[in-house]
Order: sequence, then C-alpha cells, then structure tokens
Amino acid sequence: MAKRKTTAKVATAPPPIKAYDVSDRVRFQAAVRPYQNVPHAPLVRPLRIYTLDPSVSDRLGGTATVNVPYEKLEPGPIGSLFAVNSQGAPDELQAAALDLDDPFLLLSGGVSPTPTNGRFHMQMVYAVCSLTYAVFRRALGRDIAWATNAPADGPLRLVVKPFAFVGTNAGYSREAGDLSFGYFRADEKAAGFTLRGGLVSTALSHDIIAHETTHALLDGLRSSFLDPTNIDVPAFHEGFSDLVALFLHFTYSDVVEQAIRESGGSITHGSLLTDIAREFGYARSRTGRADALRSGVDVKGLAAFDSDILPGGENGPKVYNPKLEPHTLGSVLVSAVFEAFTTIVRRKTERFYRIAGVNRDAIDRVPLNDALVKAIAQESCDVAGQFLNICIRAIDYCPPADMELGEYLRRAALRR
Ligand SMILES: [Zn+2]
Repeated sequence: MAKRKTTAKVATAPPPIKAYDVSDRVRFQAAVRPYQNVPHAPLVRPLRIYTLDPSVSDRLGGTATVNVPYEKLEPGPIGSLFAVNSQGAPDELQAAALDLDDPFLLLSGGVSPTPTNGRFHMQMVYAVCSLTYAVFRRALGRDIAWATNAPADGPLRLVVKPFAFVGTNAGYSREAGDLSFGYFRADEKAAGFTLRGGLVSTALSHDIIAHETTHALLDGLRSSFLDPTNIDVPAFHEGFSDLVALFLHFTYSDVVEQAIRESGGSITHGSLLTDIAREFGYARSRTGRADALRSGVDVKGLAAFDSDILPGGENGPKVYNPKLEPHTLGSVLVSAVFEAFTTIVRRKTERFYRIAGVNRDAIDRVPLNDALVKAIAQESCDVAGQFLNICIRAIDYCPPADMELGEYLRRAALRR
C-alpha cells in the first residue's frame, strides 16, 4: 500500500493574551541593593547626632552616638540608599562634600554636633535617614525600594538635600526622587534657647528627617497612598510619619530618662517625648511661647484618659472628624496608638513602683530614685520598639489603595 503522503497542519499559535503588565516598580525594587556584604567589614558605623534637635541641651541627652548600618561611602556621603547633595548651602555653612571614610572622622564618630558646621548637617541627614530605613528593614525583614524612577544604570538612591531652599518647610518628592530640607532665620521673638534671628535648619531636626524619610518609605510600600482617594489617606501619610518619628524618641535612653524625671514618672507628660519638631516650632514663634511644631499626641485628652476606664465625654482624647485638616486628622491616629502604648507601659511598670515602695498617686510629689527611673525607661523603650514594629508591619496587611484609619488600626491590633 502506497504510503499516503500526509501534510501535517502547522497550527499557527494564537496571539498571546495580555493578562497583566509587570509594573516598572518591579524593576525599581531590583535597583535597590542596600548593604552589600563586604568581608571583614564592621556591622555598624558610629556617628554622633542630635537626638531631637539643637534646642535640647547635652545635659538632657540632646546628643548621642548612634550605630548606623555600615556601608562603604563615597564623599557626600553617598551610600547605596541615600545620596546627600549639599548644593544651596548658605555662605556660613558652605563645605566640601563630607567624607565619612576619612580616618580622622572614623576615629571620632564623625563630625561633632554643631549647627555652625555645614558638614554636620550632611552627617545628620545621612545618619537619621539610614536609621529610619533600618527600622523598617528590621520590622519587615526585607529591603524596601523607593517609589521614584530608577536611573538607567547604577543603584536607585534617594537624593537628600539638607540645604534645599530658604523656607520653613521640608518635603519628599517622588517625581524628583528627593528629600529636601529648608532653612530660615528664627523670628526675633523666638522661644526657648533659640538664637533670635539665628539660622534654623530643618535638616537638624531628628523628627523632621524621620518624618520625611517615612513618607518616602511608605510611598515605596504603598504607592497609591499618595492619591487622596479619601481624607483618611493623606491623614494616614502624615499620622504614620509622625508615629515613626515619635517612637524613635524612645531609642534614646537618656532622653527617655530625662523626660521621666521631669514629668514625675509619666511619659504622657514628658514633652521631650511627645512633641514633634520642638526647635522648628520655637523658631517660628511670634509670641515667645515655647510650642513645638505640634504635639504628636493629644496630651491633654490622653492624660485624662485611661483605657481601663471608658472615657466620659469631654475627658476623652480628640475624636475622629473627617472635616479635619490631614495633619490634625493624622494626630488622631497618633493619639490612638500612643494611648494604647501608654496604657501598656503603665501596666508593665506598676510592679516597679510597688517594689520601690512608691505610691503611684503621689509620684508628682516624691522624687524618683535613679534605679526606678532607669527601670521605667527601659520598659518604655522596649514597648516602644515593639509598637514601632507592629505599626510598620501592619502596612503589609493594609489594602493597596483607599485605606481608612480604622482599617489600619484593626490590622495593627491583629499584628500584636
Ligand atoms: Zn508630612
């Protein structure tokens, strides 16, 4: 039988169905490569910074040596995550790019804290930006990418400009891929120890740097949160950034101990802990009154409030109102989280008062001994670290867009 010649039909493949697009952000994620392992390199780089800002004296724990994750740095400093750009400095702060790998600076923990040395401003922003990033990295257990456009070659870095402009503001820009900090002359009626007419730099405020870096990190985690689809979304950006700045106060034990001493054992009365950007507020004061930019916490409502006892109308903390301005509405979130924090600290420290034989109702009237202050401070710092982790991890469980403050708090409560 003759073999029948068969011609196999070659099936032409149907055009692929475009099921989804891979966002450019996946490429951005790959462009962030922090802290490459270098054999025999140290794990941390000690650097001196202001724990709050230059308005807080050394005696009150105003400066500290912090351990920033080690990385090889180019002059700037330029690392794998941040590139400090010192353009725009006023005449008195003009300085060459800071080389933190200079052997003299390596031996001395960097440049000494002073507002009059432009190189210290560069060190301050580099250190606090790096510490804030490290807190997120530790809480989430992974690297976080910036939401800004990646360059065609080289790593994706966030540009940090400590002398960006003359003005009483600071900001994060996704489009420009930078954090910019303004500087200005203090008012003639400035409050506190602020020099009248002196130069005030927002780049020396720990709170402002941490706040702006958190905006950038949150944008990297949830890019749609920059779209104000409802009033809670911008309020969350502001409130969350204040929360991170606030809980970072508790990483400085000297500041916490001093605040506990000053307030007679209560962390809600310790304005060193609950104020946001003190010097910034003092310098802008037109009346000479010492008010910080804002109290991160509704201290008045909080002090009268105890979550073990239901609030009675007026005594409760500030309540949610969608008509509030985003920063003010954000402070409702901050107060809610801080209230939970102080309740836990109060319960956990009760045993210390009993051991020391101090009646809690009389703590305003009796001096607290040093061992008791240190024990309360240690417990507060530990709980603050746990809260910071909870607050950051809760982001991973939030919807990608159009979030509401209540949803965030429920996610945070589940992450305990
Ligand atoms: Zn902000």
